[in-house]
Amino acid sequence: MNRRLFLALFSLLVAPAVCGLLPGCRKNKPDLPPERARTGARAAYAHTRKILSYGPRPTESAALRNTRAYITDQLEQHGWTVTPQPFTRRVAPLGKQLRFINLIARFGATTEDQIDGLLGAHIDSKFYPGRRFAGADDAASAVGVILELARQLRNEPEKASRIELVFFDGEEAFGQNISPSDGLYGSKHYAQHWRTAARSPSFGIILDMVGHKDLKIRYPSDTPSFLEDALLDAARKTSSLERFTRSLNPIMDDHVALNNAGIPTIDIIGDFSQFGWWHTEADNLRRISRDSLEITLAVTSEMLSTLLRK
Ligand SMILES: [Zn+2]
Repeated sequence: MNRRLFLALFSLLVAPAVCGLLPGCRKNKPDLPPERARTGARAAYAHTRKILSYGPRPTESAALRNTRAYITDQLEQHGWTVTPQPFTRRVAPLGKQLRFINLIARFGATTEDQIDGLLGAHIDSKFYPGRRFAGADDAASAVGVILELARQLRNEPEKASRIELVFFDGEEAFGQNISPSDGLYGSKHYAQHWRTAARSPSFGIILDMVGHKDLKIRYPSDTPSFLEDALLDAARKTSSLERFTRSLNPIMDDHVALNNAGIPTIDIIGDFSQFGWWHTEADNLRRISRDSLEITLAVTSEMLSTLLRK
């Protein structure tokens, strides 16, 4: 073997293996066991693709029913108990009542008084008659991330039994934008319960638009400071700090209902105001990146560990 061929083979085969053993060598990758991270991102992507295969999923659609059945099946396979939470609300822009169904999941036989943290995302896609709006990142990808985290949590039952997973119906407005009277139907209904509970969770994490290529997250200006600290610490540990910035303004999303009910909640949400594809047909599977899903998985998992340690 001549020297040049030896060097080429060395850099191809040996150097990457050695690099994996040196701290700091994989500087731009999340600081996770690499195999677990890649497997997780692949699984979150597969969940996202599966949900999109049902088609647009506004409230009361067959696609949303299929999405709920898929989520339920996946969670039950990993030891979670899933409870539907149905309710009806009048939707002013449509001039009629709609039936909404949230899903709530707890690990095994966990009881309400064990719950310390909430992790949620919305399952509906925006109602756009005559348009094929997939809502890949808004918010099928967030659901994909939570399903994968639920699978991983199975290996940490003590931690899993302190978390409630919640999947909101009716986050999207039926009119143009979310307003005090339109949108956030599921989270408002869900949060109502905690107002009168004997003991309520100490934190909530909402994921929304967390899988797009070139991940850019802008969380609301009124994020509770301990949750902002937990997010930024997790981002630092996973070498993804540059992905996260604080908005100059509050944002109307599912975290608002929980904050109003006294549960401090962060909304980890994509910087939608800067995305030309937000609420368009271009929010499809091509928008989704496994690398971005990997970052969100790592950051959320790290946050849960930190917050549940307290
Ligand atoms: Zn949306």
